[in-house]
Amino acid sequence: MTAAGWQYPPKLALACLPTPLMPLQRLATRLGLSQRLWVKRDDLTGSVLSGNKVRKLEFTLAHALQQGADAIVTCGGVQSNHCRATALLGAQLGLPVHLVLRGSPAELASLNGNFLLDRLCGATVEVHAPPVYGRDFDVLVSAAMQRLREAGKTPYFITTGASDAVGVWGYVDACRELAQDFLMHGVNAPVIVCASGSGGTQAGLVAGNVLHGLQARVFGVNVCDDATWFERKIKTDLHAWNALFSLGFPVETWAVDVIDGYVGEGYAKASDELLALIADVARLEGLVLDPVYTGKAFYGLLNEMACGRFHDVSDIVFVHTGGVFGLFPFASQLTAVLRDP
Ligand SMILES: *Cc1c(COP(=O)(O)O)cnc(C)c1O
Repeated sequence: MTAAGWQYPPKLALACLPTPLMPLQRLATRLGLSQRLWVKRDDLTGSVLSGNKVRKLEFTLAHALQQGADAIVTCGGVQSNHCRATALLGAQLGLPVHLVLRGSPAELASLNGNFLLDRLCGATVEVHAPPVYGRDFDVLVSAAMQRLREAGKTPYFITTGASDAVGVWGYVDACRELAQDFLMHGVNAPVIVCASGSGGTQAGLVAGNVLHGLQARVFGVNVCDDATWFERKIKTDLHAWNALFSLGFPVETWAVDVIDGYVGEGYAKASDELLALIADVARLEGLVLDPVYTGKAFYGLLNEMACGRFHDVSDIVFVHTGGVFGLFPFASQLTAVLRDP
């Protein structure tokens, strides 16, 4: 059963969809799990475009074009998957993309991972040290927008991770696919888990769960900040979505559940233990997780399950949100981990 009386806004077909839902049988067996463990392969939404951001950007960029935009400004860390996806899609659509990035000189020493792809496809970039980025963010973005206007452009600003009222639709639409997947595989009342970095994926899953009648419980594992920050952020985005599209859903009654405690040393910092898990899963299942988002979320999920959480459900669905290019800047740390017997 799906909620009635709503429709999707305009969308560009940019991602390779649908993505498969695959079982992680060997891992489930080795861990002795009583539940079935599944992965929604949103790392397969594209080749260099892979990951969750393209789903949101299908709606965000449609919205930008509808507003008459002919240039895009967005922002994030120097290894942002969102910035890389936006840069590539801009090139694909013929829209110049300017990136306002947060990064240290060390991160810029070599052209690597997502940043390499940003530059390869012609995005213009400005990089600011973390304290400056944190303090002057609004000013930096306004200045970038103003420069483009003075050059005769109509720029459109996409917020961090495209997690806003429009971006929510990306994972509402993913839930349309999940409804089909669940039907095909007999998945019933599952727990769905994703990594939360700016909250848009989880917000979309929470909304899509209701709109497509999945009967699931949705959890996000935060990879920065804390549970309080994400609960507020996701609820704010859901309210803004509900208002902007005049949907009239009782969003205040929708559960927003965040699993906190797996940030580790900080955003984009990985322990050797986390890298060892990533290697383990890659060897056992041929599934490559990343150290910034999916690896931490998966680590969190397995740890919660080991502590007895979700013992009462039959199916666990992990949403693999991509991020493979974030692995390469960890090459030297990974070399040391793989050397250990
Ligand atoms: C951005 C990102 C996330 C987090 O998604 P949000 O919608 O920002 O919460 C998770 N995984 C990967 C690989 C990402 O790039």
